[in-house]
Amino acid sequence: MKKKYDVVIIGAGLGGLTCALGLIKKGLRVRLFEKEPKAGGCQAYFKRRGFYFESCMHSVAETYAGGPVLNALSAVGLDPLPDFVRLDPSFCFIFPDKTYAVPPAVSDYKTMLKSEFPDESQGIERIFDTMTEIYEGLGRLPEITPKIARYGGSVFQEILDESLAHPRLKAVISGFWGYLGLPPSKTSALILSAFNASICNHGNYFPAGGITVLVDQLKDAVIKKGGEISFKSKVEKILIRDGRACGIRVAGGDEIFAHRVVSNIDATATFFQMVGEEYLPADFISRMRRLAPTLSAFSVYLGIEGKDLPQNVCVANLVYPGDDLEKQYEAVLKGDLEAMPWVVSIPTLAAPALAPPDHHILSLFAPIPYRLPGMTDWRERKGEYADRFIRVAEKIFPGLKKRIVVSEAATPDTLVRYTGNREGALGWNYTPESIAGRPENKSPVSGLWLTGHWTVPGVGVHGAVQSGFITSQAVASDLTFQP
Ligand SMILES: Cc1cc2nc3c(=O)[nH]c(=O)nc-3n(C[C@H](O)[C@H](O)[C@H](O)COP(=O)(O)OP(=O)(O)OC[C@H]3O[C@@H](n4cnc5c(N)ncnc54)[C@H](O)[C@@H]3O)c2cc1C
Repeated sequence: MKKKYDVVIIGAGLGGLTCALGLIKKGLRVRLFEKEPKAGGCQAYFKRRGFYFESCMHSVAETYAGGPVLNALSAVGLDPLPDFVRLDPSFCFIFPDKTYAVPPAVSDYKTMLKSEFPDESQGIERIFDTMTEIYEGLGRLPEITPKIARYGGSVFQEILDESLAHPRLKAVISGFWGYLGLPPSKTSALILSAFNASICNHGNYFPAGGITVLVDQLKDAVIKKGGEISFKSKVEKILIRDGRACGIRVAGGDEIFAHRVVSNIDATATFFQMVGEEYLPADFISRMRRLAPTLSAFSVYLGIEGKDLPQNVCVANLVYPGDDLEKQYEAVLKGDLEAMPWVVSIPTLAAPALAPPDHHILSLFAPIPYRLPGMTDWRERKGEYADRFIRVAEKIFPGLKKRIVVSEAATPDTLVRYTGNREGALGWNYTPESIAGRPENKSPVSGLWLTGHWTVPGVGVHGAVQSGFITSQAVASDLTFQP
């Protein structure tokens, strides 16, 4: 069978694009298939009345000079490298009585926390040391450092309880859980430690000009360097011959053959719909069945007139109704917006050109189950829920409703429709079991590889880009030894 391509890639998200570029740099013939008319997946944008809404961009971790994301992009040959603006403050954690603006320097952050919680000074030092050692340990995998061995199976609550006592301090140190939708009592100690240590030690960033700049740069580089991208091309099947992945079938019936197949899409669909259980080892099937996806999200995108903003907000804000995180998690599961954490980002503070002059964009995000109790789909609830979210946001942005020029909402069903991700999720959830059990880049099906947030290292722009790089290197070396 004549194979025109060395590698076909399903999906042109950040994982698929980065992987394609890495493979092209190794001299391989690559073709991507993307079901949408544009690239980017979660990180695509839509335009309304002069506002560029980047549907899944609040801020980005790990994008510091010499860090893993820029190193990966440089290694796959992206030139010039994109700019990321370091945010100051890194984050604002907004509680009903007080806002904690996280300074970009970790020493300043610790000083701020110690002056607020003087009895906890030792514990603050201790927990930052522990989180940093975990983060550095993750960078040394597969070597298992003592801290990774100690906390690999733990939840973040254990780390909190070992060092700190005050509920508010624990809530602030766990402040990123609002993004993940899983409280510290359930989230892997590795994940929340790494998130904290990365942002506190290396900063939080926003892509200069918006994330679309990176998506377009990657897409253009793939095409310019000889890769092919077929848009509006939904892949329906991964072709298996003699137990080996050897190509794909797209909607309409065309079959395209290649030496290797890389999937950048939902892992459950990849294995159970596109490959088929008959080609999967029994232990892999049961491992996949034990994994659960993250919660999905409800988002409201607002274009507002005027440049005035409250004093206590920055680009990336997490809003908490109090210190009882377990109660807030119960509210998350019920979709009770008034009692749960939520996120508001203001991308136009970092990238003003995303909105017309004298306007801002507010991006509201709430972690939410794919289905709320008693619901069959989101059609009936979308408008009412968006209005409710805007009312909640008015507590932070008084008079918000009157300033709205454009408003759009996205439900978990919207995310399913545009990204194909199961239940509108962002990959596997963050429990210790899911972190340990997620599928590796090399799948158990010969010739089939994964890239993106359903494999290692995990979620986020930083996770998808690093995953694309890792998969490209592994596939290229596999092809060298077994063409
Ligand atoms: C609401 C929300 C907010 C987020 N906020 C942030 C943030 O602020 N910062 C951050 O770093 N990360 C954020 N993320 C996470 C981040 O966007 C993702 O983890 C990352 O972009 C995933 O990239 P990916 O390449 O793995 O896959 P995806 O972006 O999911 O791309 C997969 C691609 O495959 C295509 N596809 C699917 N099925 C098929 C098929 N059958 N045939 C062909 N093509 C197919 C899809 O159309 C899509 O283009 C957010 C995610 C969400 C949902």
